[in-house]
Formats: sequence, structure tokens, C-alpha cells
Amino acid sequence: MILEIIMDILLIIGAISFFNLLVALFKVRRIMKMQKDNPNIQGISIVNGEVKIIEKGQMPDEMVKEKSPAEEIVIDPVCHKEIKKGDAYRVFKDGKEYFFCSWDCREAFLKADHIQIEEK
Ligand SMILES: [Zn+2]
Repeated sequence: MILEIIMDILLIIGAISFFNLLVALFKVRRIMKMQKDNPNIQGISIVNGEVKIIEKGQMPDEMVKEKSPAEEIVIDPVCHKEIKKGDAYRVFKDGKEYFFCSWDCREAFLKADHIQIEEK
């Protein structure tokens, strides 16, 4: 029966993930034992089955957050106001992206090609 096959597959998948979990737990335990005299340990992270030690003053790559692009400050070429990229209205023109503080500035930019654009 098809249903039985599906149940079998689910059972196998469940068994495999349970096994993986056990392996991960053993890895963590072993590393905890190895590192128990290390005073700098702050924690352990498991990424894609790899167990990593987090020490003081050292964060794993995935936890180091770069300044979000949306927080980047850009200059409105029409009114020269400084605006956050995340809040800006955008226009792609001649392969370049321009950011505007308001819809009005965006419209003004699109309508008036004679506006001088600051190149930075
Ligand atoms: Zn503006």
C-alpha cells in the first residue's frame, strides 16, 4: 500500500534525524569535557552539524552582524538631504541607483534631467 510506504519513509527520516541529534549531542558532550578547563568558553553553537566553541571576545561568523544595508546613509541628489537607504525611494537610471527622501524628489529627478547630480 502507498500509505504504508509513506509511513516507512517517514519512520526512516525520523530515525535518521534522531541519530543525527544523538551524534550532535555526543559531539557537544565531548567538546564540553575537552574544554571544561577553558575559562573563556561562553557557549557552543552547532551549525550544519559542525560544533563550534564560542569563546569570550570571539563570535562565530554568523553572529557577527554587519551594519544592515538598510541603515546605510545615502544622499538625495535632488535636495541633498541625508537619508537612510531603507527609507529611501529608489530609481535605477543608466545602471546607477539613486535614492530620494520623498516621492516628490524622485519625481523631480525623473522629470528634470538638468539637475546636477553630485558624484561621490
Ligand atoms: Zn529630497
